[in-house]
Amino acid sequence: MSVEFFWLLAPAVLLTALFLWGVFYREKETASREFLLAKALNTLIDGREDDAADALRALYQESEQEPAVGLVLGSLFRRRGKLKMATQTHKGLSLRADLDPELKALIKTELAADYLAGGMLERAQTALDEAVAEGGPTENSVFYGRRIHIKLGEWDRAYKLVQNWGKKEGRNVKPELALLRNRQGEYAFDQEDYDGAAALFKKALQLDPTCFSAILNSSRCLRYTEKSHKALSWMQKHEAAFEGHEWLFHKELMKIAVALQNHDVFVLPAMARIEAESDDWRTRSVLGSFLMEIGDFDGAFQQLHAALETAPETLLLHQKMWQLMWRNGSDPGLFSRYQQLVRDTIHFDATYECGRCRHRDNRLHQQCPRCFAMNSFRERRL
Ligand SMILES: [Zn+2]
Repeated sequence: MSVEFFWLLAPAVLLTALFLWGVFYREKETASREFLLAKALNTLIDGREDDAADALRALYQESEQEPAVGLVLGSLFRRRGKLKMATQTHKGLSLRADLDPELKALIKTELAADYLAGGMLERAQTALDEAVAEGGPTENSVFYGRRIHIKLGEWDRAYKLVQNWGKKEGRNVKPELALLRNRQGEYAFDQEDYDGAAALFKKALQLDPTCFSAILNSSRCLRYTEKSHKALSWMQKHEAAFEGHEWLFHKELMKIAVALQNHDVFVLPAMARIEAESDDWRTRSVLGSFLMEIGDFDGAFQQLHAALETAPETLLLHQKMWQLMWRNGSDPGLFSRYQQLVRDTIHFDATYECGRCRHRDNRLHQQCPRCFAMNSFRERRL
């Protein structure tokens, strides 16, 4: 073999070797990527976030930092409270030049969510503004953006964001805008700005006349400015808006009755309601509290007892019952009737739960009888 021939052959051999190595390496790489992706998704669906994070991190490195993987990995970091890692991941991704605008907007939105979770509101707002500038308002950016703007007290920006999203998607966002104004009104109310609050509740009702929160809040404003008579006629006029939430209507009437010192404006409609709908334990609960306040202990017991028969596991009702027992210590008969009711209706839930498959049991197992995980049983908060 001549020297010239060798020099001609050598590069060809090298190139072939490189090519073969490349093919082999790539095939090995794609197989392992596929496996890591499957493992990450599977463990994520299973709720095993630790394993999912490990698989995603490996996949992220293996895939030369594929943006979609990084996005999910960062969000998983945030979910697990690792805010610094979440921010770093999303921020690094957002600086890349090779992303399409939709994906870039999504990454910036997740970055805003990281900052929001860490309480860095101004940075959150900047990231969110950039996301919206990039991809327009989306369900995701509205979800976080509304919270960020509200936390900064920038109600009009929250309003505009939701409004623009509605326009873009062609959907009616008036009920949401109404609730935003209502919430702004509640904030003004807490600052004791009752006129400002009343004006905002009015705006809410112009956007959505069925917004019962704003109806209640308007009545509250009237009560706080010594116009309880007006509050009463206001509520009576809007009673229909409380269909399905009747107890809220009656609770407000109760407060008006106290302010007017006229029990009948509350007790009579509440009794009529219970007569018509005996399962309405919430209205019974409101009535029970009121009767207890005015010293009608037997009447209060009757309402709370009936309410507990419908909703035996409602802690609030039991608390009211305890309060009644405390105030009315002279009647042991009521106490034993209450005790009997608890014995008959309450069945406590299983105490232990498997951390892997969520199997529940009253006994503590060393190994889960369902998924065979070791030492996976934990006591549940009941
Ligand atoms: Zn299990």
